[in-house]
Amino acid sequence: MKVTIQKWNTVATWRWDIPEEDVCGICQVHFDGTCPTCKYPGDDCQLLSGKCGHNFHMHCIMEWIKQESSRGQCPMCRQPFEWTDQNNESAGQIE
Ligand SMILES: [Zn+2]
Ligand SMILES: [Zn+2]
Ligand SMILES: [Zn+2]
Repeated sequence: MKVTIQKWNTVATWRWDIPEEDVCGICQVHFDGTCPTCKYPGDDCQLLSGKCGHNFHMHCIMEWIKQESSRGQCPMCRQPFEWTDQNNESAGQIE
């Protein structure tokens, strides 16, 4: 009997283009996972890359910014938090 592997299982090959060891500064979950309120990683639970160099789950940083005590600042470095839109190609990505 001859067994042929026709196809590798292509599950969970999805990744964000960020360093492996990077975790969300708010919930401390790796970016391959989701924020605490989401079940599935990917487009439904996106990342925001702050111009200060810190990355967060979009949902985490939005919750943070909503709090008055945050004053719109990055929770990691306390600079005013601004981010680049990863879906907006006109913003320009350096590859
Ligand atoms: Zn998070
Ligand atoms: Zn989420
Ligand atoms: Zn920061």
